[in-house]
Amino acid sequence: MTMRPPATVGMKLAEVDTPALILDLDAFEANLQRMARSVAGTPVRLRPHAKSHKCAEIAKRQMALGAVGVCCQKVSEAEAMVEAGIPNVLVSNQVAGRQKLDRLAALAKQAEWIGVCADDAGNVDAIDEAAGRAGVILPVLVEIDVGAGRCGVQPGEPAVALAKHIAAKPNLSFAGVQAYQGRAQHLRTLEERRAAIDTAIALTRKTVTALEAAGLDCPIIGGAGTGTHALEAASGIYNELQVGSYVFMDADYGRNLKADGKPVDEFRHSLFIYATIMSHPAPERAYVDAGLKAFSVDSGLPLVFDIEATLERASDEHGNLALAKPANRSLVGEKLRLIPGHCDPTVNLYDWIVCVRGGIVEDVWQVTARGALL
Ligand code: PLP
Ligand code: MN
Repeated sequence: MTMRPPATVGMKLAEVDTPALILDLDAFEANLQRMARSVAGTPVRLRPHAKSHKCAEIAKRQMALGAVGVCCQKVSEAEAMVEAGIPNVLVSNQVAGRQKLDRLAALAKQAEWIGVCADDAGNVDAIDEAAGRAGVILPVLVEIDVGAGRCGVQPGEPAVALAKHIAAKPNLSFAGVQAYQGRAQHLRTLEERRAAIDTAIALTRKTVTALEAAGLDCPIIGGAGTGTHALEAASGIYNELQVGSYVFMDADYGRNLKADGKPVDEFRHSLFIYATIMSHPAPERAYVDAGLKAFSVDSGLPLVFDIEATLERASDEHGNLALAKPANRSLVGEKLRLIPGHCDPTVNLYDWIVCVRGGIVEDVWQVTARGALL
């Protein structure tokens, strides 16, 4: 069953049903333009990460502002994007298992370009076999661990050995290096982020130099997130930025600091959870209709945006508000916006994004790849 949208075009914000995901279009468009401008006229390309928004309407707007394609983290997410008309997708992740690899190879027939990452020779063999069954040539990037300690082979010679293995396969082409430093994104001070990305840049440069010495060209040298994008962009080695969260921002990113020690302000909060106060049993305590099923809490609880209050706890369907100013009149029925703690897993909880400008619903976009876990 397709869930009914919580709003229709032309409605006032206050009429939108809750819990709903609200997008402030002015802030969102400013974020898109700012990131596009940051690489305009440079050799660095944008390949924004669609795992943040999972929304084809947003991917289309990123492409219209110059992105070469998008990243997806899952094959089914990539399928949703391609079906919606996005022609160029890098699965910036490992894909294991025959069913998924066959789907990936089939997608390569439908799209203009589909790439994937690998960090294992046996997995490369399986990708090659799937591409062979489908009759396509799949571009494969070698993922290297540039300090995050997640996936990836070690930089330098181990990466060269895997790249040679890829290049020797009949149904694969070697497409470059995946060098994403995820742990650096939320290091709070600029000095910490810079130190981590300096290391990532050095390891990536060493790897690309060794690959070139072995006669292996790197069309894509990709990485970077919202927290460090300017550092990779200025590196002279990365040529694609996979920024995701910048379109929305979230409370956790809002805790990152600039060089002057003040909170980052390059991108604006554009994404909100709209919630209704459904119970106000004591002057200082109220409960909204948004809880653990309406926002993720892995990076902390949402921040209250519209009134002076703190969201102190959440249970399945309740958010517990501590009101800064105890209210003697009942607030039941009042609506307010929350800033999500972490945008990506929060968006995945919703079927619709309600786009608002000047207090009026201007559009309602489907979260195209919601729940795309395969
Ligand atoms: N690239 C990869 C491989 C990622 O896993 C992520 C997010 O975790 C990103 C890019 C985007 O990062 P952000 O949302 O911090 O911009
Ligand atoms: Mn995230």
